[in-house]
Amino acid sequence: MNRIDIKSLNPEQLAEFAVENGLKGFNAKQIYVWLHQKNVTDFDQMTNLSKQAREMLKEKCFITNLEIAQKQVSVDGTIKYLYRLPDGNCIETVLMRYEHGNSICVSSQVGCRMGCKFCASTQGGKVRDLAASEILSQLYATEQDTGERVSNIVLMGIGEPLDNFDNVISFIGIITSKDGKNISQRNISLSTCGIVPKIYELAKLKLGITLSISLHATTNEARKRTMPVSNAYPLEQLMQACRDYTKTTGRRISFEYAMIKGENDTQEDAVRLSKLLHGFINHVNLIPVNPVDGSPFSQSDARIIKEFQSKLTQLGVNATIRRRLGQDISAACGQLRNEHR
Ligand code: SF4
Repeated sequence: MNRIDIKSLNPEQLAEFAVENGLKGFNAKQIYVWLHQKNVTDFDQMTNLSKQAREMLKEKCFITNLEIAQKQVSVDGTIKYLYRLPDGNCIETVLMRYEHGNSICVSSQVGCRMGCKFCASTQGGKVRDLAASEILSQLYATEQDTGERVSNIVLMGIGEPLDNFDNVISFIGIITSKDGKNISQRNISLSTCGIVPKIYELAKLKLGITLSISLHATTNEARKRTMPVSNAYPLEQLMQACRDYTKTTGRRISFEYAMIKGENDTQEDAVRLSKLLHGFINHVNLIPVNPVDGSPFSQSDARIIKEFQSKLTQLGVNATIRRRLGQDISAACGQLRNEHR
């Protein structure tokens, strides 16, 4: 018999499971609180359940837990974790400390099949999707390790969240539930390389999260060179999906632009970028791209990035250069896992 991944069940699914197995509705709530507020790792820790109920849960379900395989702490307090999943695969999670609270960057897949040329996470392709419980456990394990609360979540680690749509949506449902961590949807950002049909699907859910688009180029030719997803979904389609998303959800979109030396950092790129963003609340994050082993791309010079930012400002686009936390431990996303592999 396949045991049930109980941490991936939302409150309604858990209530249904409880009743089907002879428990009461209030037992489901007790179990949910143990799993999602108290972060228990073992059914025997659920001390307000009868022994019989705990034995039934042990027989029919399992609790996903992560192990710390490696941990790097920066002088600025940023922590990068390599977490080992129950099947032995590893993923990365980063905790960033800001004045307004702790923010966590979580992975959504083991590896990634999107093939962005500047990204370490895609070297080796996608191994598998993460279950909702495995995305949740990154936050729970990090809170447990640090003893600190996490208030903001960024789905920007290893993997393309919209390529693991159902599990990512379940994750958002559970992490925002009132008997769980009760994190506001407004405090969650989801970053995508631009899987157009999934952007429309996401829009229909009308979530209060922030959608973030990794743009990284201003023409289809250039984008195809660095982001193969452009072969399937050219910029015109992507920007149309963004316009639709904003209209349907009433939420603004944030745009990310990785600055790659000699590839997308000219003044002409800045002009084209301002035109692409026309009609949106004009704000873009410029990200000095991290060097990745085996990639021909390197980050633009600081002067070029500044000039790019000034040009955008002149053109009425508000651009910020991303402050890089954890510089001393900042291997590019996916690199720690690659070393481990
Ligand atoms: S940048 Fe994101 S979507 Fe692209 S390969 Fe890396 S993890 Fe995948």
